[in-house]
Amino acid sequence: MGSNPIGAAIGMEGLLATTDIIKMAKKAGRNTLNEVESKQLLKQAGINTTEIKLATGKDEAIAAAKKLGFPAVLKIVSPDILHKSDIGGVKLNLNSEDEVGRAYDEIMATAKKHAPKAKVEGVSVQPMARPATEVIIGMNKDQQFGPVLMFGLGGILVEVLKDVSFRIVPLAKRDAREMIREIKAYPVLEGYRGQEPADVETLENLLLKVSDFVEKHPDIKEMDLNPIFAYRDGATAVDARIILES
Ligand code: ADP
Ligand code: MG
Repeated sequence: MGSNPIGAAIGMEGLLATTDIIKMAKKAGRNTLNEVESKQLLKQAGINTTEIKLATGKDEAIAAAKKLGFPAVLKIVSPDILHKSDIGGVKLNLNSEDEVGRAYDEIMATAKKHAPKAKVEGVSVQPMARPATEVIIGMNKDQQFGPVLMFGLGGILVEVLKDVSFRIVPLAKRDAREMIREIKAYPVLEGYRGQEPADVETLENLLLKVSDFVEKHPDIKEMDLNPIFAYRDGATAVDARIILES
C-alpha cells in the first residue's frame, strides 16, 4: 500500500485548502480525487457530507471507527476503483471493533481478487448515515455549453429510467427550483405514501452551492455526489467523486 501524503495531511489537519488538495493531486500525477479528498473539498464549499477519515491499516481503521462512532462504514480507497460496491468494497453497518477489523480484511481480499492491479490507498471510515431518500447531483462538461449539472433520484430511477434534469452552470435560483420539480419522481420528494419528505429548499441550495463551486474551480472536470441522503431536515452526501482536468 503506497503512502498518501494528501490523505494523511487531511487526516491530521483537516484544513488543507481546496486549491492545495487539487494541486497536490495533480503533482502526484492523479486526476481522480478519492472520496476523502472529494468530501473535504465539498465541506469547504459548505456542502454537508458524512465525517470521514482515511485509514491505511487495520488498526487505524478500528481507531477511526471508535473515534467517529458506531455503526461505521468502511470503503475501499483506490484511484483505480470507481464503483466501490461492484467489487464488494463497501461494508455498511459495522457495529463493533471486531466487525470493523473483519470488514477491513474482507475489503483488502476482495480488492486483491477483483482488481488485482488496482493501487489501494487504504479504506475510508465514516459513520453510518440514517437511511433516506437517495438523490444524486452530477456535473459534466459539455463541449459546447461547459459545465452542466444533473439532478435525479438515486438508484434505478436514474440508471434505468433516466429520470433526470439538466441545467447549465451558473444556476440561478429559479433553475435549481425547476430542476428538482421537473423530474417525474418529484412526488417521492414530497413524501409519497408515507415516505419521509425531503427538504426541497436544502436541495435547491445544494444545487446552487455545487454550481458556485464548479464555477470557482475550472480545473474540475467531473463530479458525482451519488448518493446524497435527503432528509426532512437537511441532506448529506454519503459518496463523492471529483475528477480533474488532465
Ligand atoms: P459506490 O457508489 O462507489 O459503489 P457508495 O459510497 O455510493 O459506493 O456506497 C454504496 C451504497 O452504500 C450507497 O449508495 C449508500 O446506499 C450506501 N452508503 C454508502 N455510504 C454510506 C453511509 N455513510 N451511511 C449509510 N449508507 C451508506
Ligand atoms: Mg456511490
